[in-house]
Amino acid sequence: MNNLKKLTLGTVTLAALVSCSTLLPAPAQTPPPAGEPYQHIPLPAQLPKSVSVKDAQNLQALIDDYSLQEPLMTTKVNDNVYMVRGGPGRNVPNSGFVVGKTSVIIIGNKNSKEAQDALLAEIAKVTPKPVKTVIILHSEHESGVGFLPAGLAIIAHENAKKEMEVSTARDNVPQDYFPTKTVGKDESMTIDGVGVRLLHWGPGYTGGDLIVFFPAEKVVFAGDLIVSDFPLAGTFVDHRVNGTAAGWLANINGMMTLNFESCVPGHGAVFTKNDVRTKLAFIQDKWDKIKAMVAQGKSLDEVKVALAGAPEKNPNMTEVIYAELTTKN
Ligand SMILES: [Zn+2]
Repeated sequence: MNNLKKLTLGTVTLAALVSCSTLLPAPAQTPPPAGEPYQHIPLPAQLPKSVSVKDAQNLQALIDDYSLQEPLMTTKVNDNVYMVRGGPGRNVPNSGFVVGKTSVIIIGNKNSKEAQDALLAEIAKVTPKPVKTVIILHSEHESGVGFLPAGLAIIAHENAKKEMEVSTARDNVPQDYFPTKTVGKDESMTIDGVGVRLLHWGPGYTGGDLIVFFPAEKVVFAGDLIVSDFPLAGTFVDHRVNGTAAGWLANINGMMTLNFESCVPGHGAVFTKNDVRTKLAFIQDKWDKIKAMVAQGKSLDEVKVALAGAPEKNPNMTEVIYAELTTKN
């Protein structure tokens, strides 16, 4: 949050926006050096209803805090729940782990052998207990799972398993590391003494997102449904693996009904519940505005200009929402 001072309405330093997927085009601009703000845009003149300037500044500070080359950093989120942010490589996703009675549960994998090895080294600094369980958050960039010891319990949403089975270059998870257990919409379980609830309100970032909620610790892992590497009213929905904007809204609205205090995002620092609420308000506002413009017969280009004042650097969410609203009409 030490970037609040940068929240002036002055110079626009809009860095390249990239998604997590390795299949996307390379960013148009060179990413800033590690430690420098990843992107910074002025707050919009008009904020969504229910979003205060302070709310927007807090969310923008999370965005400013993100850089493409995040150093590996382990943070205790609460009790035995840890987040392992960044790592060796570019745009390395967050992972987490929970220390159970006799073993460790990993939530979300890194995207390379080097980064996954670094994750295991971080776990070893906290506990000598072995990793026995892995929860996969979605079918994208979880390839690090394939570098774990064999014989683990691997849990994922049933759609994520289907997506992994047909995935080729995107993930390269070996068959031996496909999920050993799948879940549907809402399943509570106790893993090695740790109570966890696995939830899915529909296809969001991908078709098989899992929201992983630890009720006792009030921590939720959102995977790439919540990320810091997009602007206030932006996020990435991967329609190539069945993601939808409507489902993104359903998942985040559902998540907001949970009694959590900390949300571990797919990329960047921990969000408070209010940060998640703010993100939801921005995206819902975008949805509502596009819906109104679609009703007026506006073209996608007209919508983009109206929303951004100028063409957006990464219009993914605008394009996905527009496509969903016009397909249904
Ligand atoms: Zn990601």
